[in-house]
Amino acid sequence: MLGTGTPNADPERSGPSVAIVVNDTPYLVDFGPGVVRRAAAAFNAGVKGLEVKNLNRAFVTHLHSDHTAGYPDLILTPWVLERRSPLEVYGPKGINAMTRLITKAYREDIEIRLHGGEPSNKTGFRVISHEIKPGVVYRDKSVTVKAFRVDHGSWPEAYGYRFETSDRTIVISGDCRPSRSVIDNCNGCDVLVHEVYSKAGFARRPVEWQRYHSRYHTSATELAELASRAKPALLVLYHQLYWGTSDDDLLKEVQAAYPGKVVSGRDLGIY
Ligand SMILES: [Zn+2]
Ligand SMILES: [Zn+2]
Repeated sequence: MLGTGTPNADPERSGPSVAIVVNDTPYLVDFGPGVVRRAAAAFNAGVKGLEVKNLNRAFVTHLHSDHTAGYPDLILTPWVLERRSPLEVYGPKGINAMTRLITKAYREDIEIRLHGGEPSNKTGFRVISHEIKPGVVYRDKSVTVKAFRVDHGSWPEAYGYRFETSDRTIVISGDCRPSRSVIDNCNGCDVLVHEVYSKAGFARRPVEWQRYHSRYHTSATELAELASRAKPALLVLYHQLYWGTSDDDLLKEVQAAYPGKVVSGRDLGIY
């Protein structure tokens, strides 16, 4: 977990981003604010695949700002730190325009670094973005990545991802209310990383926010029911909305109706 946060500016929880590291190659899912520094912290803690200049592949679940505010950081910082290969990004409709406009916004910086005397490489700032459809969106010798639609309120396109590797299958829900596609894609997977909000915290929210959260997100109670059907070997709570509750409270809410193995994800946790 590079970041397990939400739009709430919790200093302990960086913006949402998960790194699947296979054979020392990192595959990022989302790039919330803080993504590059959290990758550097993981590298310093011994995850050698997360050296900053190795960050060259990312999959975006949806275009909410908490999941994408680290995009310019991911484009530019690894390049300055000598990433030579272009960044490859896969995501929903709109990712191409976002990519083009961010690159345009940083044109002055890119020009100076390319032509102002900095010993920069001339390739690593480039981004190749792909607007995806459900199904297999990426494959190499280490992983096959499948994208599937999830229900995230009014978003026309929001995705979850299933990573198949030689030893484990990992499913990431993205942001969503309970979605049948998560159950079908996990279906006994090794690790299910799922977003969640506290039911007790929710009860204290203003009614107009309750209306919003229940259309866009998944409560601990709903997640317990979903996980009972998806049957992951390990459930990792992610993108947790606490609203005054603790990790223990959240775990208790899930465990009240789910007997499987579950942990509450934390930044720099390895699962
Ligand atoms: Zn979010
Ligand atoms: Zn969202």
